[in-house]
Amino acid sequence: MIDYNKLRVRINPDNLRHNYRIYRKLHDNVIPVIKSDAYGHGLAETCRALEPEGVITFAVGFVNEAVKLRGIGCKTRILALLGPQDDADVEALWQHDVLAAISHIDQLKKVAAAAAANGPLDIGLKFDTGMRRLGFLPGELDAAMEVIKGSGLNPVMASSHLASADVPGHKDNVEGQIATFESMVGWLTAAGFDVEANIANSAGALAFERSRMGSLRQGITLYGGNPFSGSELESLGREFRPAMEVTAPVMQVHELKKGESISYGWTFTADRDSVVAVVGVGYADNYSRGLSNTGEMLIHGKRAPIRGRVCMQMTAVDVTEHMREGHAVGAGDRAFLLGGPGPDAITPKELAGWWGTIDYEVFCLLGMNPREYI
Ligand SMILES: *Cc1c(COP(=O)(O)O)cnc(C)c1O
Repeated sequence: MIDYNKLRVRINPDNLRHNYRIYRKLHDNVIPVIKSDAYGHGLAETCRALEPEGVITFAVGFVNEAVKLRGIGCKTRILALLGPQDDADVEALWQHDVLAAISHIDQLKKVAAAAAANGPLDIGLKFDTGMRRLGFLPGELDAAMEVIKGSGLNPVMASSHLASADVPGHKDNVEGQIATFESMVGWLTAAGFDVEANIANSAGALAFERSRMGSLRQGITLYGGNPFSGSELESLGREFRPAMEVTAPVMQVHELKKGESISYGWTFTADRDSVVAVVGVGYADNYSRGLSNTGEMLIHGKRAPIRGRVCMQMTAVDVTEHMREGHAVGAGDRAFLLGGPGPDAITPKELAGWWGTIDYEVFCLLGMNPREYI
């Protein structure tokens, strides 16, 4: 957590709940994915915001995230999508009642060995239907079942992950993955295991009805991202509201005369007499240097383009029009880096575009700064 700065992240838990409810219209078993500190929105706070909504299962990444969640008093079932990585993780499955997605035969054998000492345990199984990161391939199910039989391990969930549900041209790939998953789940059912099956992420569930199986895993739309923004499917994600706003203070306002350059490398030279505001935020606050001469901020409801390089703790923006139009900017005013009031609010997608990344990364990185909840 970054703790030396003036950047403030403001989270609106009502919008998290709103986004959860929208998604719940698709299915009554929606698993909020709150890995990586809830995509920068706060693990504990996001859990507390959603628990009263009747969540059946939360999903995190590593087992230690699940342990942390238990530590703050979460009583709901927790799925650790990445499964145990070391002996401490394996023990934690029993100690903290964690449902782990097991994705490899060696991992399965370690957990089975621990079950011999610790007793029975519910587990999830992760299937690789095309992502080629983690998971059992269809041809590996027999071997997995040999380990499971008589071990005390009880598969109660099967999961797989879609590689390109948010790419409108990839319909065939997605449907192929779903078909593979259905046949693997069918195989488990035939072997006598009645599992809760889930393959849908945010984009999958919105665009592919067939992906809505036993439960859905909701990540980016919970935080107000629209996986289809800018595509022909944009309207599918229209109702989600961003829950994160980010501000930093204006430190000083001064003229930048025609012909004068600003910041490291003098990469920007004013082509007219102008006014700049120096804002107290930089790449040490995870506000990327890649935004140099590209990004925009919002001050008094009006856009202010970044001039010159983003520095470690400072970034200059052009406020010439603000001064001319009677929206005078002064030290102490807050500049919005994300969100803000009015029709020109900076959207997660826009900021990500200037930054050269996706809204997921913007949330994770900016969310490492001090947060306030409204
Ligand atoms: C992160 C993650 C999700 C959530 O995906 P979104 O695109 O954010 O909805 C779902 N499933 C798994 C396995 C994940 O790792």
